[in-house]
Amino acid sequence: IECMLPTSDTLNRVSESATIKMAQLSRELSAKGVNVISLSLGEPDFTTPKHIKEAAKQAIDSGKYDSYSPIAGYLDLRQAICEKLKRDNNLEYKPENIVVSTGAKQSLANVFISFLNEGDEVIIPAPFWVSYPEQVKLCNATPVYIPTTVDADFKITAEQLEKAITPKTKFLVYSSPSNPTGAVYTREELESFVAVLEKHPHVYVISDEIYEHINYTGKHVSIAEFPSMKDRTIVVNGQAKGYAMTGWRIGYMAAPAYIAKACDKLQGQITSGTNSVAQHATITALLGDQQPTYAFREAFQKRRDLVLGMLKEIPNVKCNIPTGAFYVFPDVSAYFGKDFNGEPIKDADDLALYLLHEGHVAAVSGTGFGAPECIRFSYAASEENLIEAFTRVKNALAKLA
Ligand code: PMP
Ligand code: GLU
Repeated sequence: IECMLPTSDTLNRVSESATIKMAQLSRELSAKGVNVISLSLGEPDFTTPKHIKEAAKQAIDSGKYDSYSPIAGYLDLRQAICEKLKRDNNLEYKPENIVVSTGAKQSLANVFISFLNEGDEVIIPAPFWVSYPEQVKLCNATPVYIPTTVDADFKITAEQLEKAITPKTKFLVYSSPSNPTGAVYTREELESFVAVLEKHPHVYVISDEIYEHINYTGKHVSIAEFPSMKDRTIVVNGQAKGYAMTGWRIGYMAAPAYIAKACDKLQGQITSGTNSVAQHATITALLGDQQPTYAFREAFQKRRDLVLGMLKEIPNVKCNIPTGAFYVFPDVSAYFGKDFNGEPIKDADDLALYLLHEGHVAAVSGTGFGAPECIRFSYAASEENLIEAFTRVKNALAKLA
């Protein structure tokens, strides 16, 4: 008798992460010996700065980090995070406002699981990072999307925000700088959202600032800097992108103490806090030499310019100019309806698979990001690989009839 355990309704509501799925497909093809250039998973190609690694080694050798940490993170780390928030963002928090988690992904999940009930609505400007709607669905709550266009730099307006708010709205969640569009909201744009949100005090904001340090427009602005928003904002940040520490799995949130306490309670039943050695090294990352982070940003900006130049050479792709993060998100819909050797390319999913199998370049279809006309390329790769990858993309697209 075939016996199989059916998955839960909770799991069935959620789709697999599009970014992780594409990275997996690209790894599988590489394992077969194909020379694939992966621009799928969004992670810096740099290694973690040496002084951070040294701090981790010392933490291991000291023997002081062999036991469980406090669930919300070590006190000295939470103090360091407060210092960082004051230094970089002019935000005043105390350690009781901070919860350190296993990546910013968990920080987001902690908030959603702790506060969403069935039927609650979460406003998500589209395009969005793939995990926002899926985490919301995990909680049986409802994502409410606000569409944007490439011509508007994929940004929402205050009017659109106002229209999307209902009595059931619990959160607005967005990333600025944005994954996948690279758009960065200006202080004036955020101010226009604040004016709307002040009229709707039941709406809280989850401000995902994980790309804070990869910003080509100047100083990062957090919506929590507006005094009327501070008590209604959950700032999410982490070490993955700005410090090239994706594998260390350190994210954190800063929020009113009662919100932090709720997430602490949840985390106490799920992970018992994150890795002790990584936590200790994060103090060095946040308070030590910031030069490597600035150097990463400069390198990413150079690569962005390189990639935009190459995209211009490809007919019929339309792209905004990303001012942050490390992605380009061109509209490639002009290629839908074409075919290769009789095989039709119906949509961005087909096109991403075509580029993988024919061009040996891994990118992620825009479908999972709420923009089915687009495709996402990460430019967190060497200039040499980027030149080769976009030459391949150009040649592969030229073969479509
Ligand atoms: N938010 C955004 C917008 C991201 O792109 C990512 C990707 N890693 C995360 C959150 C999650 O980051 P972490 O690796 O710290 O879980
Ligand atoms: N955030 C990265 C991305 O969008 C890493 C993958 C993930 O965490 O989903 O590609």
